Amino acid sequence: MTEPGAGAAPTAGTGAASRPVAAGPGAGAWPGQAAADAMIVCDRLVRIYTGEGIEVQALQGLDLLIAEGELTALVGAAGSGKSTLINILAGLDAPTAGRVRVAGHDLAAATAKERLAYRRGVVGFIWQQTSRNLLSYLTARQNVMLPMRFGSLRRRERTRRADFLLDTLGITHCAGRTPERMSGGEQQRAAIATALANQPRVLLADEPTGELDSATAQEVFSALQTANTELGTTVLVVTHDPAVSSQVRRTIAIRDGRTSSETIRHTATDEHGRTELHAREYAVLDRAGRLQLPREMIERLSMRDRVQLEEEADHIGVWPDDADGPGTERRE
Ligand code: ADP
Ligand code: MG
Repeated sequence: MTEPGAGAAPTAGTGAASRPVAAGPGAGAWPGQAAADAMIVCDRLVRIYTGEGIEVQALQGLDLLIAEGELTALVGAAGSGKSTLINILAGLDAPTAGRVRVAGHDLAAATAKERLAYRRGVVGFIWQQTSRNLLSYLTARQNVMLPMRFGSLRRRERTRRADFLLDTLGITHCAGRTPERMSGGEQQRAAIATALANQPRVLLADEPTGELDSATAQEVFSALQTANTELGTTVLVVTHDPAVSSQVRRTIAIRDGRTSSETIRHTATDEHGRTELHAREYAVLDRAGRLQLPREMIERLSMRDRVQLEEEADHIGVWPDDADGPGTERRE
């Protein structure tokens, strides 16, 4: 098991009520210029659930930077901490330790009142369960207008904005329908419109296509892309769907409560002038110098407990800890 990132710091039991705990050198400042500019910054985020004598470390010192305007997919096995992270970013839950900042809002230090204002105006959130996102007795237009009650728009402007969002997401025909008269995909698109009502800087979606077939999932994902490209919203979407994660530039994988690897996709032009999509997977290196080696590689080389490192001019070699090490005849 990996050591928690803010591991040395004591973590109070109840999580939500406890204050962020500073740990280690440099804990007083957000790390680096990249973090200063980022839309989402998680710094050694820890979330421990306690109850009935058992303790679950859902987030174990997670670091994450997401730039403004990115559309990012978050993937990982069940129980790896995706929902825990999204709930913290959404202001629905608070970390046990570590720091988290979204659009300049320090969420670990926020009061309940500040968190409420944050949820209303700064982030939009979409649940996996379509039924959870919309009020069943309101039409799509009324659902989208509902969060605007807390804003400054007049009624006519609210209607105009709701209709603009429904149109942008391709569901104008649902404006006067209640959710039961809409398909699952239409409901999720109306949910996205509702989440966008107050022009949030960040849109968070926790497996929004999890209950949908693949064609409908694509429709909903396209709506998230529209929110990103046309409205400039930074989007973070949890997904199990490889079709979705293959369409984003950056996919972040979570393992055991930490970001473990990232896949970056970009298009390049080959020597014949054809554009090709390249995907490259990276291991994530945290600020303390820790990285997670892919499980398959570790198992194939029977690595356990400790490894030997060898520094080369342009790379670092990692060797299993057996009798031979770097510098023996095993090397070419
Ligand atoms: P994911 O969304 O990646 O499936 P979660 O963030 O829901 O993972 O859960 C991460 C871990 O935390 C799991 O081991 C899960 O059982 C545990 N967990 C999640 N929510 C709670 C909770 N409210 N109380 C106790 N344990 C929880
Ligand atoms: Mg989940």
